[in-house]
Amino acid sequence: MKFFSLVLALLFPVGVSASPASNEPAPRAIWITDVTIISPENLAHVDSGSVLVENGRIARVERKVGSRPPAGAIVVSGEGGFLIPGLIDSHVHLASVPGVTVEMNLNPEAAHAAMLAEYYQQLPRSYLYFGYTTLVDLAVVKREIVDDFRNAPLHPDLYDCGPSLPVANGYPMSFAPPPLRFQLFPNFLYDPAQISSIPAEYKPQDHTPAAAVAADKRVGASCVKTYFEHGFGKDRNLPVITLALAAGVRKAATQNGLVMMMHANSFEAQQFAVDADVDVIAHGMWNWGALDRQPPELPTEIKTLLDRILQKGTGYQATIQVMGGLRAYFDPDYLKAPAIPRVIPPALLAWFNSPEGKWFKKEIDADNTPDADMRQVFDRGPIRRVRQVVGYLASRNANFLFGTDTPSAPTYGNLPGLNGYLEMQQLHDAGLSLEQIFRAATINNAREFKLDSQVGSIEPGKIANLVLLRKSPLESVDAYDSIVAVWIHGRATPRDSLAVSPNK
Ligand SMILES: [Zn+2]
Repeated sequence: MKFFSLVLALLFPVGVSASPASNEPAPRAIWITDVTIISPENLAHVDSGSVLVENGRIARVERKVGSRPPAGAIVVSGEGGFLIPGLIDSHVHLASVPGVTVEMNLNPEAAHAAMLAEYYQQLPRSYLYFGYTTLVDLAVVKREIVDDFRNAPLHPDLYDCGPSLPVANGYPMSFAPPPLRFQLFPNFLYDPAQISSIPAEYKPQDHTPAAAVAADKRVGASCVKTYFEHGFGKDRNLPVITLALAAGVRKAATQNGLVMMMHANSFEAQQFAVDADVDVIAHGMWNWGALDRQPPELPTEIKTLLDRILQKGTGYQATIQVMGGLRAYFDPDYLKAPAIPRVIPPALLAWFNSPEGKWFKKEIDADNTPDADMRQVFDRGPIRRVRQVVGYLASRNANFLFGTDTPSAPTYGNLPGLNGYLEMQQLHDAGLSLEQIFRAATINNAREFKLDSQVGSIEPGKIANLVLLRKSPLESVDAYDSIVAVWIHGRATPRDSLAVSPNK
């Protein structure tokens, strides 16, 4: 195809290798020309034109053909292609390795340690491979993981919520054994009702909402993450955050300029989140409690709540792939997807395919129900419910924020980068328009996280985080898998060189 080869020839004109060295500076001026510019502030008038990138920033945007490049600029023809702002995933967990047990991740034996090290090394590139140039990590559990990510030669811009704010002994700190959980979640909220189950060395005054939010602010967080979750399985009666604690977090987050997020995936939890006036609900609603079995109409009580979410403009992360990622264990074709060896190193993929690597399937389905039946359990239950909710919100143009929750559980069904592409398909199937998906993954996220002076659109002054596609994302969702090249701070990388094993 003419366009494809032309672009690749021009992108790397002077023998630049496929994988640029870490300290190699971006060329000073790049003129990306003959390209359709798709940017959220200008969707009504999509035109062909040129974009000048200088010193890692967008210097000029010309929405007409035939403009001349400035003298000395490297010219890149994007003929036939579509230039979009780099994508933003505002819900990831970099420290969790998909498909791997918590113990294996925290304390791996030698053979596994090498496999995990390879995964972490590839991690930033896998996000870039699918066009994600900005990420928000919602709960920093190991500071060195985010530090390593930011120090990688090539990586998406990374923001984080610092250590998260679970209520003492609540989700998710409940998953760790009692003595360890207070170490792993040092920023927990002290509920005086639980005084007997909090070790004496932890003082209430260090774990007030104000103290917890201040601790996140001190480590440079952009947001704070809270939870409303009674739990599931054998841990389904966990303590939850109180309205008084949530009000304290709300006040302190506003004072510190931090985005308040809440893990909430049930009708009850999302009601609480709205009452607590959070900025962002970090999940779709797949648990309807007593209303679970009420198809096919969306129950009136739920519509009333969704109307409040719409009216308040609460940020909404649908995260449908949380369910898709569990369902993947019952889809015999999932691990055969050609994209998986692009984003996951061979040793880890081989382990996923081994009997040991399927341990989590047994956790989801202890009675060995046939795969087809399990797929139906998901499709008729939580996936149906979350789709109905998301479809209702889409038809009324909610403030969708693109977030995947990668990985949401120790599932191999949520792989970095690829999971974003799968989530986009889920959103489209649930009723979001292509324009809504595009806005959710660009300007909506940028605004919510107060990054819109830096990223989220193709406008002068912003960071040159750009993605060149062969297809238009306003025409099909699979355009997001037609990436030719990704610019991060003005530095171009052909997609193929971001893969673990390049396409032949
Ligand atoms: Zn999450």
